[in-house]
Amino acid sequence: MKKIGVLTSGGDSPGMNAAIRSVVRTAIFKNLKVVGIKRGYQGLLEGDMNDMNLSSVGDIIHRGGTILGSARSKEFMTERGFQKALDVLKIFGVDGLVVIGGDGSFRGAEKLSQSGFPTIGIPGTIDNDLGYTDYTIGFDTAVNTVVNAIGNLRDTSSSHGRANIVEVMGRHCGDIALYSGLAGGAESIIIPEIDFNMDEICKKLISGRNRGKLHSIIIVAEGVGKPYEIADEINKRTDIETRVTIMGHLQRGGTPTAQDRVLASRLGARSVELLLEGKKGRVVGIKQNVIVDLDIDEALKIDKEIDKGMYELTKILSI
Ligand code: ATP
Repeated sequence: MKKIGVLTSGGDSPGMNAAIRSVVRTAIFKNLKVVGIKRGYQGLLEGDMNDMNLSSVGDIIHRGGTILGSARSKEFMTERGFQKALDVLKIFGVDGLVVIGGDGSFRGAEKLSQSGFPTIGIPGTIDNDLGYTDYTIGFDTAVNTVVNAIGNLRDTSSSHGRANIVEVMGRHCGDIALYSGLAGGAESIIIPEIDFNMDEICKKLISGRNRGKLHSIIIVAEGVGKPYEIADEINKRTDIETRVTIMGHLQRGGTPTAQDRVLASRLGARSVELLLEGKKGRVVGIKQNVIVDLDIDEALKIDKEIDKGMYELTKILSI
């Protein structure tokens, strides 16, 4: 293996730059050439790539987003687009590829590997929705962004004696809601994995008010949705003024936390090592603080499970 490529694909996440930096610098350290491919698989099939050197990834470890840009490419999913991508890799003399993205991007990486082109996936998504790894790059930053927002909402809610519904991202996964709710001291957390009971939520709000509590935070995961309906219901049942804040894309940006940068750096380096070991069609991740790698298909078959113990703890701590 003489030359590898790196791309970011799907939704961006804070820490992707730290992963790119790690891939590029590890590759150079191991005497490989590296190209940075722009705009995910779309840039790949268009041949939109540049040689990377040590300086290309200088001063990016602390930046959110991705210097390579990201995209969703329908063309890559067609047979013609896919063949075009393989041809481009051949023309540019690229022997291996590192794909930083979510499960969709991993399917693309798997397809490339199955057709004989060595590809390794790095989990870059704020959602933490991949069952094979404890954490994905960007999750910790997104949680911290929500926790900071909860702090701000507490100040203003206390002044007015309001309750706040905060809708957070995560698609079908409740991890952002769970972690930010626990760290932010939320009264209730509503996630798609566990049924919620409106009576219980309202009872807690009323007993909080009766003991002089001036603010309440309820986190609702995107996968549950309907934050305005939930707010109306609370308003109706408790007479507590309830406001809604949708965190939205604010969660996707910002300076990556140290934890995300460390994870990205470790996973980036491992992905290059795997290519040099002759591996393909694998994804890297972290389990109990150990860097692991699995076959892509195997990894994607592992269901993501919510930590029920943590969910119960949020209930205990918000009595
Ligand atoms: P996020 O978790 O942020 O949504 P993702 O990687 O899951 O990220 P997708 O939009 O699902 O995002 O996938 C990104 C790109 O990967 C797609 O636009 C497409 O080009 C490619 N891709 C997705 N699924 C497949 C597949 N089954 N085969 C080949 N390529 C795929």
